[in-house]
Amino acid sequence: MSRMESGINIQPQELLYFNKRYQVIICTSCQYAIQPTALDRHLKEIHALQRHRRQPYTDYASRLPLKQPSELLGTRLGTGPSISLGENEDFPVPGLPVISGLQCLDPGCGHLCVSVKRMQSHWKAEHHKSGCAALDWQSVPLQTFFRGNLLRYFTHPALSVMLLPDTSTESADDQIGAIHDAWASHADLTEFDKSLLAHYLQSTHLSIANRHGNTRLWRISVPRIAASNYLLRHGILALSAQHLLNTEQSQSTDRQRLMEAASEHHDKAMAAFQATIDAKPSSALECHGIIAFIHVNTLLYFSNYGENSLSGVEDLFLADASRPDLGYLSPWLHYVRHGCHLVCGFWDTIGNGPLASLAASWDIPIMMEDERSSRIATILLSALDHDCLDGYQIFDEIHNVYVQAASELALAINAAQKFGSALTIWDAIRLWLLTLSLDFVNEVKKETPRSMILLACYCIILENLGNAWFADGLSTRLLSLTLTKLQNGQRELLQEVTQRIASILR
Ligand SMILES: [Zn+2]
Ligand SMILES: [Zn+2]
Repeated sequence: MSRMESGINIQPQELLYFNKRYQVIICTSCQYAIQPTALDRHLKEIHALQRHRRQPYTDYASRLPLKQPSELLGTRLGTGPSISLGENEDFPVPGLPVISGLQCLDPGCGHLCVSVKRMQSHWKAEHHKSGCAALDWQSVPLQTFFRGNLLRYFTHPALSVMLLPDTSTESADDQIGAIHDAWASHADLTEFDKSLLAHYLQSTHLSIANRHGNTRLWRISVPRIAASNYLLRHGILALSAQHLLNTEQSQSTDRQRLMEAASEHHDKAMAAFQATIDAKPSSALECHGIIAFIHVNTLLYFSNYGENSLSGVEDLFLADASRPDLGYLSPWLHYVRHGCHLVCGFWDTIGNGPLASLAASWDIPIMMEDERSSRIATILLSALDHDCLDGYQIFDEIHNVYVQAASELALAINAAQKFGSALTIWDAIRLWLLTLSLDFVNEVKKETPRSMILLACYCIILENLGNAWFADGLSTRLLSLTLTKLQNGQRELLQEVTQRIASILR
């Protein structure tokens, strides 16, 4: 008996892990798949088993419905060193090690390899120039079923740069079942968490999909990324709990439990998010998690605005007096405005990946002045110079800050009116909040009457979101906060301004 043979003394089903999904056997000792015709040789040459000892293993394998490598690797066999998993497939595939690799970012290419040197030769051979790191390729996790001449790398399906046709013949129920399984394989979920996930998959995702046609993104792509992304997973659970709280008439004991779940999951997600951005995300999967979480976090912020006054600090919606490090921006808005920097190096990948429409929803639209927007601008600008503000003199530079914010608000109100009920939360944000200068945010932080009047007029836009559960009552709460910051004459001015704008919009 050889020395190596003595090491293999385990049951066939333990040495040869049968992966049902791909109908392949993976040697648990070697950690790669073995093609059926090569099993006997593998046991003989790698594990030094004599014929009579190989028999139980080959007998076991012969009873399994195994696929040939060509079926597994598909038609791309032989055409290149990588394959794509279907977008609903689980990653990582159990039984196979995860290798840190690189993915070519040339549009439609997506070539995978394990070293910079190989990637550089790929660029010279295929793209006829020398690519450079971060711009032309990125780090991704890789797996391969086989070694040797059947070696084909694949990566997380959510990171596939090749647009996969929607060939899925699975029913909606099967897809949702697959998401439950994927979550269960990455995390120990309590029964309550499972019910929150089920609610998300059944209902919450529909309530946040919008006119950009991103139902599938919120239904499949985001929960799939969340399966293997801790912070997004907790963000989704918090969102589901919050959605239940805001929309269901449930017993008070249930409500207590939901409130605790919402804040617990949100806190966990937030802490992990902070740690991830502090450490600088290093993989595209992490970056997808960040971008999706920034959206989820914003929905949670909107749905909670004005409800948590426990801290005693008033929340000024877009400004936060306790965050000089963020230029006094409220953290949620800071993340939205800086999302592309937080995932620096991966922004283009995200723009071409499964979350592309989320990234695009942040683009600041170019708004043109028209007759109606000019009339709104005139009303807002004249309010800034009203007599009731005489006691609040400002320098010319600061005056310009207000003029800028007021002019942009006029364009935004006008544009929001055109969207009508199709206005999305992201429209409401990018139409005005993404364009604001930090100087203006600083004025809001100081609660100056002029800035409070403009913030109150922004509520005209937020009102259009009133039908969405996450914005229910938001404009009312923000408006009443701004009113508490204004003196008597100023409140009348605000009322007059909003009435005049309303009559123009009618
Ligand atoms: Zn082996
Ligand atoms: Zn390439």
